[in-house]
Amino acid sequence: MTLRLYWQDAYQRTFDARVVQRLTHKGRPAVILDQTAFYPTAGGQPHDTGTLNSIEVIEVLEQDEHIVHVTAAPIEADAVRGTLNWARRFDHMQQHTGQHILSQAFVRVAGLDTVAVHIGKDVCTIDLPTAQLAPEVVARAEAEANAIVWEDRPVHSFVVDESEVMRLPLRRPPKVRGAVRIVEVRDYDWSACGGTHVRNTAQVGLIKVLRAEKRGNETRVTFVCGQRAFADYAQLHREVTRIMDVLNAPRYQVSEAVQRTLSNAQRTHKALQEARERLADHEAEQLFARAAEVNGRRCLAHVFEARDPEEVRLIARALCARYPVVALLGVAGEHGHLIVARAEALADVDAAALLREALAALFPQGGAKGGGSALFAQSGGLNVARERLQTVLEALAARVCSAQA
Ligand SMILES: [Zn+2]
Repeated sequence: MTLRLYWQDAYQRTFDARVVQRLTHKGRPAVILDQTAFYPTAGGQPHDTGTLNSIEVIEVLEQDEHIVHVTAAPIEADAVRGTLNWARRFDHMQQHTGQHILSQAFVRVAGLDTVAVHIGKDVCTIDLPTAQLAPEVVARAEAEANAIVWEDRPVHSFVVDESEVMRLPLRRPPKVRGAVRIVEVRDYDWSACGGTHVRNTAQVGLIKVLRAEKRGNETRVTFVCGQRAFADYAQLHREVTRIMDVLNAPRYQVSEAVQRTLSNAQRTHKALQEARERLADHEAEQLFARAAEVNGRRCLAHVFEARDPEEVRLIARALCARYPVVALLGVAGEHGHLIVARAEALADVDAAALLREALAALFPQGGAKGGGSALFAQSGGLNVARERLQTVLEALAARVCSAQA
């Protein structure tokens, strides 16, 4: 049975110990010591890292009553000096103590007991047994939890036997029988817990809830404490400052400024779309005037240079809506595009079949994809020279008109 030094003093960063057993864990060397300050993964708190005689400890786990240290290399010596990665451990202590306080705050504010806890690499979560958690309730619990932090209440642990446990107002009944380790946030929260905690609530620094999301019949509350909350604030501050500078917005009116900018963009977009449609109408009129009439119907082929396909689509639609015409419109160049459209009245013409024919002529080796309906078909992402496109489309237009005679 390994003596757990972190239960006597969660602030102990170095210790001396003796190797009592050498083993392997998933192919890696591991040791069991007579005593350790390394916390193993347990109770929702991740394991510590650090070194044993300068050899990296990469994982720590509980095996029966023993604590197994998985190391990057075998440890030959029988006497070891252990050193914790203190930044990681203290972070876990901040998150874990903050979790006790926040869980109790939800009990007091909303009568909600925490049913699951997770201290992750970036954020922590508690699961509450409700599918409906109003944002105001979350805000009240968060405010109460932070008030407890600022009251600088002592946090201490003690061991009680089974009969004494019943007299304590524990949030949840202990999972173990016999003697139980209790962690108390003075006069506020009592939890059966084997984790590591800060010695007073002030060291939690800050508890910030990031979100609350429904998961089935429960709500998962995501939060960060201490250093993590500070890092989150610093990051958000940088982001918001950048937006403030770009939009020239006051600090607490950033969302209004973003909303305004979006509305302006939408209005501009709408006006641009209307202008494009008017331009398309105008260009359709000009194109139609130039289209040759064969056997009483008009068929036109036209190639644009470096034109937005969206504009060409608008021109094709405007042409076919206003005139009894078959339109074969192309955009030449590396980002070429091809559109075949026909007026509804010309029911004997199949735009999709014409498109296939044009693509087969342009790319005899295949590879070009496209499609559509009998009324409107298109293909994009074509690399095609202007002259070649012009020749193919004109030949096709001439054939379509004469074939329909
Ligand atoms: Zn705890």
